[in-house]
Amino acid sequence: MGGFLRGPTLWFTERAAVRRLFTEHRLGRRFAARFVAGDTLEDATHVAGGLRASGIRTMLNHLGEEVASPAQAAAATDAYVRGLKRIHEHPELDADVSVKLTQLGLDDSSELCRENMERVLQAASGTLVMIDMESRHYVDRTIEMYLGLRDRFPKLGICLQAALHRTPEDAARIGGPDAIVRMCKGAYLEPPEAALQGRGEIRSAYARLAASLLAAGSVVHLATHDRRLVAGAEAFLHARGLARERYEFQMLYGIRRDLQAALVARGEPVRVYVPYGTEWYPYLTRRLAERPGNIWFFVSNALRRAG
Ligand SMILES: Cc1cc2nc3c(=O)[nH]c(=O)nc-3n(C[C@H](O)[C@H](O)[C@H](O)COP(=O)(O)OP(=O)(O)OC[C@H]3O[C@@H](n4cnc5c(N)ncnc54)[C@H](O)[C@@H]3O)c2cc1C
Repeated sequence: MGGFLRGPTLWFTERAAVRRLFTEHRLGRRFAARFVAGDTLEDATHVAGGLRASGIRTMLNHLGEEVASPAQAAAATDAYVRGLKRIHEHPELDADVSVKLTQLGLDDSSELCRENMERVLQAASGTLVMIDMESRHYVDRTIEMYLGLRDRFPKLGICLQAALHRTPEDAARIGGPDAIVRMCKGAYLEPPEAALQGRGEIRSAYARLAASLLAAGSVVHLATHDRRLVAGAEAFLHARGLARERYEFQMLYGIRRDLQAALVARGEPVRVYVPYGTEWYPYLTRRLAERPGNIWFFVSNALRRAG
């Protein structure tokens, strides 16, 4: 979490001039390449192949969110159908996908989004489809969508955010042997009424939620780069002798490669979230806000080159 600098960093990255600095300048695009596989599905496949060669599975995410029109939602759906076709052509990659419901038309209507989601799930034919969790305004609708579809499509999973006060109740409702749940801390700036703010309390909530989901029989994806959480989870999983099919460690492309490699070396299942596509700016702003040091690194480099 970016702590108290998260708000100012997001404010900064939302300025039009800053957005242009990143999206229109070579240096900005090069900086984004640290976190994004590239503009195309070919780029994502290439990155997935490289990671697979080092023992890491992937989860492809075609970037985009909060789309404004049904036509854009249909285009995003098509992109996922193409991505799934590519995954089926390359079973050696052992890749799956992760989608955002606002990319598939949730802001337009739940019906439109459900139709698009069904199209993705049919194209998946057994490949896991995960649903990303977006800001608190979308949590109810995201959970309803997931619960409405999972009986017909058992290879469907959902992300829950440890920081939100509501998540223990959501986890109790969702958890169980049928559930595939990604546990993350939460990437969105949320107010104290809705979410825990301190690093320590979010970490504790994360550990409690992951343990309770595992105890309920769910498959749990431990999505974090937090060394302490990873170490705690490993100890917990091994003490209980949980089978490898019940969990997976997950990280984001470009972040904590050392930790990814260390987990692989210890024989743990690791999957990396690989975002691709041209709509990378909102994703980048969340990565910058998690670690404001990233932004100062970028700005100081840009100034050095300009100077
Ligand atoms: C696979 C995956 C899927 C995710 N899906 C969602 C989702 O659907 N919804 C959602 O709200 N959030 C999602 N997230 C993001 C998550 O909520 C956190 O915002 C993010 O993972 C940072 O929290 P952390 O647990 O890594 O811990 P932190 O305490 O933030 O980070 C731990 C360490 O990881 C490194 N690190 C973390 N972030 C960065 C960064 N941006 N740049 C450089 N180093 C960094 C640093 O070394 C840091 O000390 C996902 C994360 C992962 C790994």
